[in-house]
Amino acid sequence: MGNRKIPRIAYPLAGLAAVCGCSGDNSAVQAPNILYVFPDQFRASALAFWNEPEYAGYVGWQADPVHTPNLDRFASESVVLNSAVSTCPLSSPHRGIFLTGMYPERNGVTLNCMNLRPESTLNPEAICISDVLKESGYFCGYIGKLHAETPMKNDPANPGHYVNGDHPVWDAYTPPERRHGYDWWYSYGTHDVHKDPHYWDTDGVRHDPHEYSVRHETDKAIEFLRNENGERDAGKPFFLTVAYNPPHSPYRSMEDCMEEDYALYADMDYDELYVRPNADTTLSKAPSIRYYFANVTGVDREFGRLLAELKRLGLDKNTIVVFTSDHGETMCSHGTLDPKNSIWAESYSVPFIIRYPGKIRHRVDNTMLSTPDIMPTLLGLAGLEDRIPASVEGHDLSPVFLEDGRACQKPESTLYIRNLDGEKDSNGIVHGIFPQARGVQTDRYTMEISVNRDFSLRSVLLYDNEADPYQMNNIPYKDHPELFSALCEALASKLQEADDIWHRDRIMQRLGLAVKP
Ligand code: CA
Repeated sequence: MGNRKIPRIAYPLAGLAAVCGCSGDNSAVQAPNILYVFPDQFRASALAFWNEPEYAGYVGWQADPVHTPNLDRFASESVVLNSAVSTCPLSSPHRGIFLTGMYPERNGVTLNCMNLRPESTLNPEAICISDVLKESGYFCGYIGKLHAETPMKNDPANPGHYVNGDHPVWDAYTPPERRHGYDWWYSYGTHDVHKDPHYWDTDGVRHDPHEYSVRHETDKAIEFLRNENGERDAGKPFFLTVAYNPPHSPYRSMEDCMEEDYALYADMDYDELYVRPNADTTLSKAPSIRYYFANVTGVDREFGRLLAELKRLGLDKNTIVVFTSDHGETMCSHGTLDPKNSIWAESYSVPFIIRYPGKIRHRVDNTMLSTPDIMPTLLGLAGLEDRIPASVEGHDLSPVFLEDGRACQKPESTLYIRNLDGEKDSNGIVHGIFPQARGVQTDRYTMEISVNRDFSLRSVLLYDNEADPYQMNNIPYKDHPELFSALCEALASKLQEADDIWHRDRIMQRLGLAVKP
């Protein structure tokens, strides 16, 4: 990808004419709307269609035994990626990368945001996709979980205080000056009580609707689409981001999901629920799976309701719709209780489904899209490739989807990043990061190298996903020096491209791993 030249213009764009031809009436040449839906922790295999004959040959694993009829139908109208990954599969870092097209070290969001990690927060100066779209004539709305900022003492109802008094503080309020071009707002930082959610609106007024958050957020999205109360400027194309929290945990009781959805899985035993042979159902987490799948189905139902309204309003033809997630959920695979922040497929692989009627043809595609590519690719799909800011570190892969003959080199591998807390001071405040692991995935192999705090080698994971799709056999890297060396070179190349701390600090060289200069 390194040689490809993307025409880019300097920022800021203020003062330039909007490119959409959309500042006046809703004319036939209006730029496409963009509806971007990304639930939290929705793994790639939690989509029933992967077991259907058309799709099964594109993945080496079984789909989870989930009910996702609306996503199945949506997939049949879309490009479905089978190799999309979350570069840094953790809530806040993913959101920072998605919003900016930049790696964590540049956008500021290196760790999951909370008050003890004040350095991990979205850089207010970073150019976000919503900044570019607003400057290009779009009206931008955000609904749901943001979790890209450190909590500040800025509760609109209680100035000088955090929005929640708990310690440590996770939830956050985002004031208008930090909303990056989003004109319409109905959001919060992070809050994991699915049937008692809360939000701050455009004016900073808090709402506590006391209902299933996915249903409530879909109702708000439908209000935005209908525009009955002037939610948006109907003369402009819209960019609406819908960030559902489920199927994120908790997974303990009917407080965490809808009973009608749980009923679909209530009578299934572990042999039916756990189709991945790498799952350990003796883990304490094992009963969580029914609640997880219930929330997958809850998201599916509400996503279907949103698409139905888009169609009823006649907006579907000129709207790019994306369904993806910030990362997956290990759900007892690999013996870990941590749902994310690992390179295993259950965590690293994400759904990525794009529908753009009349512009992109339905098919399964093996493009290895990673998180920094999302922003430039969406801008490219909207015909705004000339407006991709120079700060973007991902690649515009829109020619792959549009099949329009424009030059575009498909990625040959994807990068994986895992950071942990750096040093903590006497107040428990985290300073810097500890870059514990980096990895690379090709069309066949997955490799991760992790280090101890003294930067000695901690472990190497190496999987042949073709022969071992559930990643159950860690190939001894010392027994396969040529393969390992090739993957180290691929990793080193990605680290260099990303100007990652592992590249700058020559960590692979310090580990004695064969990397050409
Ligand atoms: Ca998350």
